Amino acid sequence: MAKPLVAVVGRPNVGKSTLFNAIVNKRISIVEDIPGVTRDRIYFDAEWLNREFTMIDTGGIEFITDNSHVIPKMMRLQAELAIEEADVILFVVDGKQGIVPADEEVANILRASGKPVVLVVNKIDSVNQEPNIYEFYNLGLGDPIGISAKNLMNLGDLLDDTVKHFPPVGTNVDDEDTIHVAVIGRPNVGKSSLTNALLGQDRVIVSDVAGTTRDSIDTYWTHGDQKFVLIDTAGMRRKSKIEEAVERYSIVRSLRSVDRSDIVVLVLDAQDGVTEQDKKIAGYAYEAGKGVIIVVNKWDLIEKDDKTTLRFTEDIYDELGFLQFAPILFASALTKQRIHRLADMLKFVSEQQYRRVSTGTLNQLLQDAQTVNPVPSRNGRIPKIYYMTQASVKPPTFILFVNEPELIHFSYMRFLENRLRESFGFEGTPIRLVLRGKK
Ligand code: GDP
Ligand code: GDP
Repeated sequence: MAKPLVAVVGRPNVGKSTLFNAIVNKRISIVEDIPGVTRDRIYFDAEWLNREFTMIDTGGIEFITDNSHVIPKMMRLQAELAIEEADVILFVVDGKQGIVPADEEVANILRASGKPVVLVVNKIDSVNQEPNIYEFYNLGLGDPIGISAKNLMNLGDLLDDTVKHFPPVGTNVDDEDTIHVAVIGRPNVGKSSLTNALLGQDRVIVSDVAGTTRDSIDTYWTHGDQKFVLIDTAGMRRKSKIEEAVERYSIVRSLRSVDRSDIVVLVLDAQDGVTEQDKKIAGYAYEAGKGVIIVVNKWDLIEKDDKTTLRFTEDIYDELGFLQFAPILFASALTKQRIHRLADMLKFVSEQQYRRVSTGTLNQLLQDAQTVNPVPSRNGRIPKIYYMTQASVKPPTFILFVNEPELIHFSYMRFLENRLRESFGFEGTPIRLVLRGKK
């Protein structure tokens, strides 16, 4: 399940960074060279009362603004971003300074959004400063909570309050055989066009699941008798200016979509190929054991000869070496070329994710593999693989019982993985090999 997202909004110097440092266990390092965005330091992982969550410092995003009224404009954009993205918004104000006009403006936007907001009055460093918090009732955002980020005071209360607003755990209403699809890719590669082209061909079940915004931005559709859910489609189907802006700044949204998906459709622009951001997201999907299909979109714009497809395929697998199992679809959302294949590919990959191989068959494969290519000995010691069995599906996971796990080299595991794929396919899904030693 995706972690709840907490956005922190506030003017410069109110103490947001200090608060982050106090709460956070680690930074999520995602660097991206979009000018004006210092991404690397804006996402943080944190945990409270066994609930993990992600924090975004919207103040760390340097929005490109004109020179006049820079701060109010920045603040407004931050607030809008927070409203779009977050489950809970922490609005941090300065208890020493009191309310300033920019605070009021942000408060108005936040109030109108209906999102849960926790009003945090920072720099309440001692008990006798507590009366300073009362004036903040005027912002109309409920009870302010006084903290000192610097002295680590009242942070527990703040986090208690924050966690209360999280969506309940495990509220997934979809049935097991629905395939959850996340369409991921950089802005402008054609995700929205692809989504619309895809949905245009099938029956879309418009769901008006009331309640959480999260549910209502998923789109349900069926292709034949297969049910699908396209995760996080709202921003794609109707795209406003602010949604475009938000998309530029939100890798976290993509990661959360990946978390919730069974299969990730990674969309590339044929003109640009694979970028650093694609590698990061693809790597994340791979680590999470998700199925992956790569769509090379805007194929209509490429001048082709009989080697073009091959060359593209090689380049992509070169850049995304760990995704050699992922099928590639060369498509055009504009002309709809090959779009009709995607639903069947998704279904096929889903079947691969659930594929089971019997223990007998696996051990035959293991024997044959070792005959062709015996496990090399290491430091004069001889590794032995006794037995292999499939422990689980999605992703298919195999346990190898061995004498000493340290003796088996990574490259031998690679070799076995390749043998498994040659024999059984597993197209589109990562597979895992786990070594288990004798105790
Ligand atoms: P940001 O710009 O909102 O990220 O603010 P910073 O975290 O960089 O803090 C701005 C200034 O306020 C720094 O000098 C901090 O030391 C100071 N500061 C942060 N939290 C507190 C606090 O709880 N009490 C006091 N007195 N100062 C604080
Ligand atoms: P998103 O930001 O990833 O959702 O991308 P959009 O779907 O908004 O597409 C960005 C731009 O690329 C728009 O101008 C689309 O018309 C254009 N576009 C999308 N798909 C294709 C395609 O297959 N071929 C061509 N030539 N243009 C496309």
